[in-house]
Amino acid sequence: MAETAPLLQAKDLRVTLRSGIEIVRGVSFTAKAGKVLGIVGESGSGKSITMRAVMGLSPPGSVISGSIKLRGEELVRAPERRMRALRGSRIGLIFQDPMTALNPVVTVGKLIAEAVRLHNPGMPAQKAWQRAVELLELVSVPEPDVRANQYVHEFSGGMRQRAMIAMAVANNPDVLIADEPTTALDVTVQAQILDVLKGLQDRFSMGLILITHDLGVVAGAADDVIVMYAGKIMESGSVRDIFYRTRHPYTHGLLSCLPKISGEQLRLEPIPGSPPLLSARPKGCPFHPRCPMARDVCRVDEPALRPVDNVLTACHFAEQLRDGLADGTNTEAERA
Ligand code: SF4
Repeated sequence: MAETAPLLQAKDLRVTLRSGIEIVRGVSFTAKAGKVLGIVGESGSGKSITMRAVMGLSPPGSVISGSIKLRGEELVRAPERRMRALRGSRIGLIFQDPMTALNPVVTVGKLIAEAVRLHNPGMPAQKAWQRAVELLELVSVPEPDVRANQYVHEFSGGMRQRAMIAMAVANNPDVLIADEPTTALDVTVQAQILDVLKGLQDRFSMGLILITHDLGVVAGAADDVIVMYAGKIMESGSVRDIFYRTRHPYTHGLLSCLPKISGEQLRLEPIPGSPPLLSARPKGCPFHPRCPMARDVCRVDEPALRPVDNVLTACHFAEQLRDGLADGTNTEAERA
């Protein structure tokens, strides 16, 4: 099958705050049309700030360097006017919490119609309303013509997220960025929302970027995965290679946090400690204070991202994960 052309491509993307702290450190990735890219990491890993840089929504006073290209158009240093035109039209964004992102004093239909008219100013109000109802139907909201006349507080959590998705795809974006779109939802509704997103992505051949702290969410939805930590990519590859043949202890730790049934017991193995503060990143590999494989070199030299087998990994001892971690677990055998 032919390789899918890149839709959105970031190269050596860096975001430095006014204080001089670099919070995104040389991130490169490619989102392809009709594919889902999962970006995974704990809070503070830099995954959301990376995507905000793509949208031109970095913190005030921060400096962005590197390259972000949308269908070949450079977005780094693009004028704000141009970014405003792209946001909501060619790049759609779904936020984590629809309750705070959606205006509570306007009906859902009007909210979506406004999103349509923002990028189609000549469209008559009645036509935009019809489009809003169609969009609610597209995201499987039952009785969309009735629901369009209701307010956000009359929608359940899952229905609000569907309304948010309808707004985000109102102008058929090339790329849809979904930032923790299922975090506040129960597992059943989570699966429904992921189905809606996948359905839209297939139908419109969009590139979908799914940001989440939960590897379980990307397992069934993503084609490729980036694992981020302390503002950097720790590992990237196809979802299958990352899940079955990880070459990074941090990814291995995240996978161990997924619930497993062993006999009668539900076993969870959290990663010890917490991610570092961006202002107090440890020297060397940023994961070394929590890593079961850390050695002296890890405390001094920060590993570069490099190819090992089928993945890119930033670990000095990536090859050793083939034979199992220092604690005796064998990553491939364990999940085979
Ligand atoms: Fe662990 Fe060292 Fe690899 Fe970092 S470089 S993940 S500390 S083994």
